[in-house]
Amino acid sequence: MVLFEINKQLNALKAIPFKTLTCGYCESPVLSPTKDSAFCQFCGAYTEDAEPPEKPEDNTFHNGLAEIQSSIRAGALGDAKALSSTLFTKLTDPEKLFCGGNIYLFLSDQTYSSKDYAITGFMEKNSANVYESLDLTSKSKEFFYKTLWLIDASKQREANERALFIAFLCCIYLKQHKKAKRHLDQLGSQEKPTLIRRYADMIYSVETGDRNAKVLIESLLGQKEVNTFFYMGKYLAKSKKLTEAEALLAAITSICKHPQAEELLKKIRDTEQALSLQ
Ligand SMILES: [Zn+2]
Repeated sequence: MVLFEINKQLNALKAIPFKTLTCGYCESPVLSPTKDSAFCQFCGAYTEDAEPPEKPEDNTFHNGLAEIQSSIRAGALGDAKALSSTLFTKLTDPEKLFCGGNIYLFLSDQTYSSKDYAITGFMEKNSANVYESLDLTSKSKEFFYKTLWLIDASKQREANERALFIAFLCCIYLKQHKKAKRHLDQLGSQEKPTLIRRYADMIYSVETGDRNAKVLIESLLGQKEVNTFFYMGKYLAKSKKLTEAEALLAAITSICKHPQAEELLKKIRDTEQALSLQ
């Protein structure tokens, strides 16, 4: 069974002339196939280039966020954690909470994978990493729940497609698929779907193992979004095409910071290693 011709897809990904934007939500660099917008590879939101705030006092959060992102890119996990615990307190804005949720999710995954299997005995260091990772995961969940609650409670949500898409992503990240479907249905009509609606349909079908997943991925390839290739990789992995999935995810992580692709790649490599030991 050939799901996608992987070499063709790898070449297509390499040939895309990307422009780098800054995510208006999480301040991560974003590869955009168009000039002005893209689905962020770090947080998944649909974003335009971040605009400088109108008032200088509004800078604090975004400057702090930019500092966290640069620590993440430099691999300085301890700095990113310390900065996050200072910056992500008493947040009441759904976009900022969504961003905090994504950063905590990333930090949790990184902390968990920094366990050292070579340590023997009681492995106190590893236990500490695992507990810290669980703590960061629950923070991340708490932030996604709050984001969801605030967007659902907001009166403007029907008019704001991007906010609804963020609420949908929170449900996906929390693995609440029934709730995700309810938000998906609010994202415009299926007869004349917007780009965001088509993306949400594709994400939902990959995450829930729906049989339309492949068709929906193919229908979006022409948009040249990095995240379509990521969901193609996830679909391949779920279809047990691990070699193809690994090649695609490795290509994605070589061109941008993509936490979800990194995590999935790590899982595939661990699985392959475990299989080789049998
Ligand atoms: Zn982002």
